[in-house]
Amino acid sequence: MKLVIMGPPGSGKGTQAVKLAQQFNLCHISTGDLFREARRQETPLGKLVKEIMDKGELVSDELTTQVLENRLSKEDAKKGFVLDGYPRNLSQLNSFNEITNIDFVIELIVRDEEVVRRITSRRTCEACGAIFNTIFIKPMKPGICDKCQRKLVQREDAKPEVVKERLRIYHDQTDPITKSYMEKGILLRINGEQPIQKVFEDILKKLN
Ligand code: AMP
Repeated sequence: MKLVIMGPPGSGKGTQAVKLAQQFNLCHISTGDLFREARRQETPLGKLVKEIMDKGELVSDELTTQVLENRLSKEDAKKGFVLDGYPRNLSQLNSFNEITNIDFVIELIVRDEEVVRRITSRRTCEACGAIFNTIFIKPMKPGICDKCQRKLVQREDAKPEVVKERLRIYHDQTDPITKSYMEKGILLRINGEQPIQKVFEDILKKLN
């Protein structure tokens, strides 16, 4: 099965993608994670995308599609995948349609004000990258990573002005994509403002 999961930043896409990958033995592919990994390892790709990501902007379509195609060509992606973070605009949608056919698109619906509240409360470990939250997944000691005891910071892309810019881009560029998938009859719309397990159950119900 080939799935795409969509939703604004902070809608819980990543969490649901991991659960879906486990449930159906699929490969979880996130373009954001691919870029973040490249940054952590300071590869040439990582250096190229650092500034763009810090400003909350999108990496070029050509580069993103190339990175994704490369990932999809790996052996483990043959069993099926749940893709998170792509396609993000109409140009990517057109490229994607040429690369592969997908079965369903899951759209998590979360209001803008809830997105801002969720993301600005995120804290990331500066050393190991573990993610905590001042509202939901609180660290045992405020400001300190549970896993490696280093300092937790508010990532550049979790600052309010950056989140608002990401939301603006998100609506601008992804609304036409969900519309296109809706017309194809493969869009499953899910209320993302529910507990994680309830969101997951709603997705399973719709997939069945
Ligand atoms: P995400 O974790 O999906 O929000 O992605 C983090 C960052 O990676 C984004 O803000 C973009 O800079 C970049 N990125 C991830 N996916 C894409 C994409 N499909 N197209 C362009 N840039 C992307």
